[in-house]
Amino acid sequence: MRIAVLGTGYVGLVVGACLAESGNTVICADIDEKKIRHLTKGKNPIYEPGLDRLLARNLSEERLRFSTDIGDSIQSSEIIFIAVGTPSDTDGSTDLKYVTSVAEVIGDNLNNEKIIITKSTVPVGTALKVKEIIAERIHQKCHICANPEFLKEGTAVEDFMRPDRIVIGIETGDDHTRAVLEELYSPFIRAGDSIIFTDTTSAEMIKYTSNTMLAVRISFMNQIAALCEQVGADVEVVRKGVGADPRIGHSFLLAGAGYGGSCFPKDVRSIVKTGEQYGLDMSIPRAANEWNEEQKRVAVGKLVDELGNDLSGRIVAVWGLSFKPGTDDIREAPSLVVIPELLSLGAAVRVHDPQAIQTAREILPPEVDFINDEYDACTKADALVILTEWQQYRRPDLRRIHDLMASPLIIDGRNIFSLSMMQERGFIYHSIGRAVVRPK
Ligand code: NAD
Repeated sequence: MRIAVLGTGYVGLVVGACLAESGNTVICADIDEKKIRHLTKGKNPIYEPGLDRLLARNLSEERLRFSTDIGDSIQSSEIIFIAVGTPSDTDGSTDLKYVTSVAEVIGDNLNNEKIIITKSTVPVGTALKVKEIIAERIHQKCHICANPEFLKEGTAVEDFMRPDRIVIGIETGDDHTRAVLEELYSPFIRAGDSIIFTDTTSAEMIKYTSNTMLAVRISFMNQIAALCEQVGADVEVVRKGVGADPRIGHSFLLAGAGYGGSCFPKDVRSIVKTGEQYGLDMSIPRAANEWNEEQKRVAVGKLVDELGNDLSGRIVAVWGLSFKPGTDDIREAPSLVVIPELLSLGAAVRVHDPQAIQTAREILPPEVDFINDEYDACTKADALVILTEWQQYRRPDLRRIHDLMASPLIIDGRNIFSLSMMQERGFIYHSIGRAVVRPK
């Protein structure tokens, strides 16, 4: 099939590469000329495991190409994926300006009957709104489809290639779109029942409900962690005990320095706004969002408890800038809250991340010191704050870190070390929802 993917970001690029890999002819189109120039030369602008290999193979075998000519990409394709960004507006609702603008371009270039798919995460009613925008510009039949994406950065290729479910919202009686998408997705389906066909509104709701449910679980466990600290319980043990109940399960129960990323924060805010539009107070997602905003400050609070709130003359090392391991994406990451707060308290801040230095450099204040080696970042540091659980941070040489630091204080926002080990190694060790450890 001939496919255009409009918007070549974390989602569009993976979707385009995976669909090309399964034999389709794909154009990934974007208005960002620099990005397209890099991609055309075989340079991948994002870090996503497994993606480089797919891009290289499909480029060289000419199933995949990149373009800034959105109109031509639309005209020469049968299926159009909209994968542009849907950031938060200032009031928390979803800013649909990119979706609207791309819908207008589709309307201006629809030269025959095509299937238009909203792949971006969009509030209820958006797929039908896209159809309206197109209809206002051209009298040409088109099929609209809401097909939210569930891939996770860090395992995006694997997630797209082996999805646990594919949700496809179509209009009543649109058997054509149903048949085409069944064929398109057939290479990725192991069990015959993993495609869920529904109406466009329910498809849109499934995406927001999934992300909100996961965010609520995280914020709930972070609140439980705060209570554990007060009552003297250990949230890690509580989590294991609770997760052993099969009705609850173990996933998304990890307490930590708060959730970030390009999805959960904005999608939770968006569903709260959607509720408001319909006169419903979405108090549960609202509380999850509010708790998370505060949770991002917890690591700084613990540091201040140890060092006081004047950090001038102090050096603080930060490990982990991306919102989670396996990605260079720093959107709404806890590091973006923690680092400016440390700077405002007067600290000199030295940061390390295995992949996100480049993306972070563009956003963090210029006084932040970016260090290529995680041990170098600890040299003469008064504290080390860990914000992302990258694999290489899980088993570091703690003796070396202890020797390098001016004082052996670690604030672990991801609970990656055991309390007994940290005590044995002579650290002052704060984590989330567990007792503070001090050297014997
Ligand atoms: P992104 O910001 O990485 O990429 C969006 C791209 O769209 C950018 O390259 C931008 O230049 C391009 N763009 C903007 N306007 C355009 C236009 N008119 N024509 C062509 N391109 C245009 O965003 P992302 O992380 O890929 O997310 C895209 C959508 O997918 C969002 O709705 C997001 O919520 C959703 N989503 C993201 C993830 C994720 O893990 N990142 C997962 C599932 C769903």
